[in-house]
Parts: sequence; structure tokens; C-alpha cells
Amino acid sequence: MEKNNVIFILGAGHSGSTVLDMLLGTYDTVCGLGECEKLVSSYNQGLVCACGETLDRCIFWGGWIRTHASDIRQDTYRCIRGLVGGLLGVSRYHCIRRDGRTMAETDLLQYCATAQSVYYYARRQSGATVLVDSSKNVDRCELLYYRGSVNPIIIHLVRDVRGVVYSGKKKGKSVWVILWFWVTQNIKVRAASRRMHTVPITVLYEELVAHPRETTDRILRASGLDPADFGAVSFERQQHQPAGNRLRSTQTPRHLTLDTAWMSELSVWERAVSIICAGWLLWYLRRCAR
Ligand SMILES: [Zn+2]
Repeated sequence: MEKNNVIFILGAGHSGSTVLDMLLGTYDTVCGLGECEKLVSSYNQGLVCACGETLDRCIFWGGWIRTHASDIRQDTYRCIRGLVGGLLGVSRYHCIRRDGRTMAETDLLQYCATAQSVYYYARRQSGATVLVDSSKNVDRCELLYYRGSVNPIIIHLVRDVRGVVYSGKKKGKSVWVILWFWVTQNIKVRAASRRMHTVPITVLYEELVAHPRETTDRILRASGLDPADFGAVSFERQQHQPAGNRLRSTQTPRHLTLDTAWMSELSVWERAVSIICAGWLLWYLRRCAR
């Protein structure tokens, strides 16, 4: 079967992947799938689509859900390798069940088959030639690459660590936990890309907000695709990214504003500790984005 061209948006949480997914989805022949990994997760039953419907009632996903719901092991959640495995490329993947136990090889095959089925369905349904998967799961991307089922185009989305700390804090997370994930997730993206012999397209969130169209055009060109082939850009077309994020239940944002609240809301200590722990990596990633 023909491989699917899939743009994987990777990076730390709270980095703006939803916005980027929706902006790429405004091109006529690009289809944003949001965090489509969650389609099969029992954690997310009752998940709402960007169109405002629950997934089983959504005109885009309803058909897939009805056909596949009974085949899917409802407790299959994520494909992960853990931090050390992910950084060092240890080839042992796990599918994690709801009770935290790992699953067997057959479950991994099932996981890959399900991912493929979602991609083929979305392509047929949308007529798109390129799909966007913003599950932000590096292991998923690498596993599907190794199993030969996708042509991955990797976007490494990077947001200033202080902005991420502020966003995470608003959701009640500890500053240390946010910093840990910011550093390890960003390193994991670089390590995985290297193993896949791919140079990721590094995109700064701040750049995306300031120049959205120029940035998405740059991403498509860097992917070896010509934006002119991607038809009309439409902010009116309804998109169908599954997830619970409030932003997804609204239309694609036409005008973006940079959230700079961290500058006034973070304490001197929080800003200092962010830069001490992660400033070196932010500096490096900014250089990569040039
Ligand atoms: Zn929908």
C-alpha cells in the first residue's frame, strides 16, 4: 500500500501544536488530525471533535468510529519507550494499558494497524495528500517509521521555556516537572530525528504567532512540498481535530496574539530557574530554527 505523508508535530507540551495543526489544516489538500492517537483511548471516550460533536456523531470521524470501535482494544492507550529507551534508541516499545501494564508484540502490531487505518480513512475522507498528526508522541512517529508505514515529515515546535512554565503552572503543574518535561521532550525529538536520518524542521512558536502564513509556507517548502500545490487557504472550512482542548472547539484562529503574560506573572526566581535549567537548550534550538 502507498505510504502516507504525515507531518508529525513534535515538542514539549504547551508549545502551540494545536494552533499549528489548525493552520496547516487551512490548506486545501492538508488535513489536520489533531491528537489522533487519542481516538482509540479509553481515557478519552466522549472526546469532543473540533466541530463540536462527540466523535461518534462527528460527520468526519463517525464512520471510522462505527467501523472500528469493536476491533479496538479499548485499553490500548499510548506507544511509549520510557525516557531512557527514547533517548538512547532502545528498540523496545510498549503499549501502555490503563492499568499501567505493558502489552505484547501483537498489541504493537495492532497499534500500528490502527494508526494506519486512521491515516487511510482520513485521506479518503478529506481527499488530502498530506496529513498532520499532532499527538506529540515521538515514539509513535519513530515506531511507524521503522515499520515502514509512513513518510514522516518532522516538525520540532519549540516555545520559550518561560512561556511553557507559565502555561503549565496555570494548569496546576509544578515548575520542576514542567522544566523536566520541556528539556527531556525536546532532546528526545532531536535524538529520534537523528536516528531516522531526518533533519527536523524547527519552528519557534513565537515566530509562528508573529508570521503564521509565512511560517506554514516555510514548513511546506522545507518538507519538499510547494505551497502553490496546496490549493486555496480557507479559514471557513470545518476542521475535525479530536481532543478536549477548548481551542479546538472554535474556528481556526485568523489572528494570533503572543501570550507574553509570563513576563509579568512569573517570579524572578521562576524565570531564573527556567533559564538556568533550560536556557542552554533554548539557545541551541533557536539556532536550529534559523
Ligand atoms: Zn468533527
